Amino acid sequence: MQPESVIAMWVTLLLAGLGFFALADEFRRRRIGSDVSQDQVFRCVRCSSVYTDDAEVERSRCPQCGKTNEAVRF
Ligand SMILES: [Zn+2]
Repeated sequence: MQPESVIAMWVTLLLAGLGFFALADEFRRRRIGSDVSQDQVFRCVRCSSVYTDDAEVERSRCPQCGKTNEAVRF
C-alpha cells in the first residue's frame, strides 16, 4: 500500500468517526429535549420529594407518601 493511501484512509476514518460522534450527540440532545416536553415535574408539598409524571395529567400522586400534588410551572 502506498503511504499516501494509508494517510487518505486514516483521514477518511477520522472524519467518519467525527461524523458519527456528532450524529450520536445530536440524537442524544433530541431525546433529552423530547423528555422535557413529555414529562411534568412535581414537588410534593408534604415530603418535598421531586418526581416526574406524564404531561397530560394535571395532578399526580407522590410516590413517597401518596399526597396528590399539582404540577410545578416554570
Ligand atoms: Zn410526598
